[in-house]
Amino acid sequence: MSDAQLKHIAATHTTPCYAYDTALLQRTLEAIRAEAAHDRWHVHYAIKANPHPVILQQIARAGLGADCVSGGEVAAALQAGFRAGSIVLAGVGKTDAEIEQAIGEEIGMMNVESREELCVIEQIAARMGKKARVSLRINPDVDAHTHAHITTGRAENKFGVDAADMVTLARKTAESPHLTFTGLHFHIGSQLLMMDDFRALCLRINELQGELAAAGLFAPNINVGGGLGIDYEQPLKHPVADFRAYFATFANNLTLLPGQHLHFELGRAVVAQMGTLLTRVLYVKQGSTKQFAIVDAGMTELIRPALYGALHRIDNLSSEGRPAGKYDVVGPICESSDTFARDYVLPTTQRGDILAIRSAGAYGMAMASTYNCRPLPEAYLF
Ligand SMILES: *Cc1c(COP(=O)(O)O)cnc(C)c1O
Repeated sequence: MSDAQLKHIAATHTTPCYAYDTALLQRTLEAIRAEAAHDRWHVHYAIKANPHPVILQQIARAGLGADCVSGGEVAAALQAGFRAGSIVLAGVGKTDAEIEQAIGEEIGMMNVESREELCVIEQIAARMGKKARVSLRINPDVDAHTHAHITTGRAENKFGVDAADMVTLARKTAESPHLTFTGLHFHIGSQLLMMDDFRALCLRINELQGELAAAGLFAPNINVGGGLGIDYEQPLKHPVADFRAYFATFANNLTLLPGQHLHFELGRAVVAQMGTLLTRVLYVKQGSTKQFAIVDAGMTELIRPALYGALHRIDNLSSEGRPAGKYDVVGPICESSDTFARDYVLPTTQRGDILAIRSAGAYGMAMASTYNCRPLPEAYLF
């Protein structure tokens, strides 16, 4: 989608609003299909990144499965046309109702995050007279070099079971009449750009597979989670994530056993670059030491900068030919963290200008809130 189109959308709709480029999403899905074209490889889309129903339908049509973290997401996935068998469900705090739903709908597998949860799933499956399909989410204690809030695979995280308990819990699962042991699950973090982190995960999985085999156990599925990052600095130069390097890292470093299936759960890398948050400049305020571009979008529409200190590229779509200035780009919300960028270089910016906040397709609208009694923004697909 061109900047002229984005500008037109902003001019003809209420801002702030999201614009989603479905052609770019299609290109991204085709790149995934091309790079992950192995027998027994399965890519699941992590719905939490962006659950827009039309986006879900497009992704389901492309043949991906769904990765869910709540019963609401399982329902959204089924509604959008994902096959039940292609759905996986993770989450440290699954409710009884969510477990019943997963067993009842016969989804592909549940990723179990604690011994306590495993016992509850067994009881619920017994009561329902069904067998629950469960994988163990193992905490591999691998450091993903990313923001502390989105690293999930260290020993001190709340996620997954200790690798030391893997064999005991896998055996308990395999021997239970109410459970089917479907394999191992991992997820080490998000916005990872160093393939060495994924390589470290592969090597750790190879070790753990050795421990399972020594105990006479077999994991039919290995799920390596998601986390592939995108280029927030140069989104227009790199609109599609480096799927080639990502998938090659697993092909080259992970040793699969005969008959084993490999699963991926990508969220951000599928949808981030197709989304733009369009916002209008309300005021340019001259402070004593800096100037503020106060815009009509805030942390209510896009919370990543406030939550993680994330920086999204911002372009002024209205300022052709004007000389550069430096701005703090801030929202209208009553919180100092409601800041998109500090000392950010933009062409001279004026009231009424349209700014494009790039790479906002993932964890943007999905995390939007009505704080300050603001309406949720509209999202338009093109
Ligand atoms: C969030 C999440 C993902 C997707 O993460 P991305 O960084 O968006 O790829 C995958 N698996 C699990 C279990 C998750 O919680």
